[in-house]
Amino acid sequence: MLERIIAEGASALGVPLPEGAEERYRTYFQRLTEANSDFNLTAIESEEDAARLHFLDSIAVAGLADLRGRTLADIGTGGGLPGLAIKIAVPETDLTMIDATEKKIDFLSRLTRELGLDCKCVAGRAEELGRDPEYREIFDFTVSRAVARLRVLAELCLPLTKVGGRFLAMKSDDCGGEVEEARAAVSALGGEFGEIREYTVPGTGIKRRLVVVEKTAPTDARFPRRWAAIAKRAP
Ligand code: SAH
Repeated sequence: MLERIIAEGASALGVPLPEGAEERYRTYFQRLTEANSDFNLTAIESEEDAARLHFLDSIAVAGLADLRGRTLADIGTGGGLPGLAIKIAVPETDLTMIDATEKKIDFLSRLTRELGLDCKCVAGRAEELGRDPEYREIFDFTVSRAVARLRVLAELCLPLTKVGGRFLAMKSDDCGGEVEEARAAVSALGGEFGEIREYTVPGTGIKRRLVVVEKTAPTDARFPRRWAAIAKRAP
C-alpha cells in the first residue's frame, strides 16, 4: 500500500522516483515506527498517513525546486523530514540534516547508512551553526518543516543559506499572517520574499504552501542571535 501511494503521488507531483525508492520508503517507515516506541519522532502512525503526510508532503518540495546536484540543509529535521524523504526521491541532492537532539541525529546516521544513502547528519542548534564558519552561508538551499514561526525560522535558516541561494519554508495554507509578521526579519537577514507555491498533498484535500525566500545579501554578523533573543523579538 505504501509503495503504491508513493509511486502514484510522486508521479502526480512531477517527481520521477529512482530505482529502489519505494523499498527505501518502506524501510524508512519501519524504522520510524520502531523508533517511535523509544522516543517520539512522529505523531503519525498509520502507513497511509505516513506515506502521504510525511513522504509525499516532502517529495512535493523536490517538484517545486530543482535540488539535483545542490547542497540542501534541513533545519530541525527531527525524524528526517523533509530531508531524508527528499534524498530518497532525489539522491543527487547533497543533503545535511541538522537537529538539536542528538538521539534523533544518531537515529538518522544509522538509518541513512542502512539505506545506503550518503548524507551528513549534524547534532547542533541552527542558531549556533549559523555563527560557525564551517556552516555559515554555505548551502544552496535550506528547508524546514514544523519547527517555528516564519519570523523565527528566518533567523535560523537564512544565516546558513549562501548568497544567491534559497530558504524554503514548508507551511500550511493559512500562513499569510506569518509571512507578514516575518517581512522585517527576512529583510534584516539579507532575504527577499520570492514566490509562494501552493500544492495539494496527493490523495488528501490538504493544501500546503512552500514559501520561497531568496538570499540576496550577506547576513549581518549580528545574526543569528542567541535563542532567547530570537524567540523574544524580531531583529
Ligand atoms: N521537521 C520535522 C520535525 C519537526 S519537530 C518534521 O516535520 O517532522 C521540530 C524539531 O526541530 C525537533 O526535532 C527539534 O529538536 C528541532 N529544533 C527545534 N529548534 C531547533 C534549533 N534551534 N536548532 C536545531 N533544531 C531545532
